[in-house]
Amino acid sequence: MLPTKINLSKSKSLIINWSDGNNSEISLERLRRFCPCASCVTEKEKMGNSYFPIYNFDQLEVKNISVVGSYAITIHWADGHNTGIYDFPFLFNLGLSK
Ligand SMILES: [Zn+2]
Repeated sequence: MLPTKINLSKSKSLIINWSDGNNSEISLERLRRFCPCASCVTEKEKMGNSYFPIYNFDQLEVKNISVVGSYAITIHWADGHNTGIYDFPFLFNLGLSK
């Protein structure tokens, strides 16, 4: 499944149009919470069940989105964090589960 269009909406979410005609809307908070980069994943694993996200405004603000190869995007957050590589199957699944 490939995106045909990726839009940042004013309502703080990412809207993805998929090649099969479906759309996903994923909130920025959800994208940040599931950041797949090594440091975020490790932090969540360390905290285990006691993990809950605390975000400041910059951490939920997107400055830029860039495409990685033909399989993923990177989100450049306003706090400078940009190491998470969100591949398309991962994004598709984030859009499915609420
Ligand atoms: Zn991260």
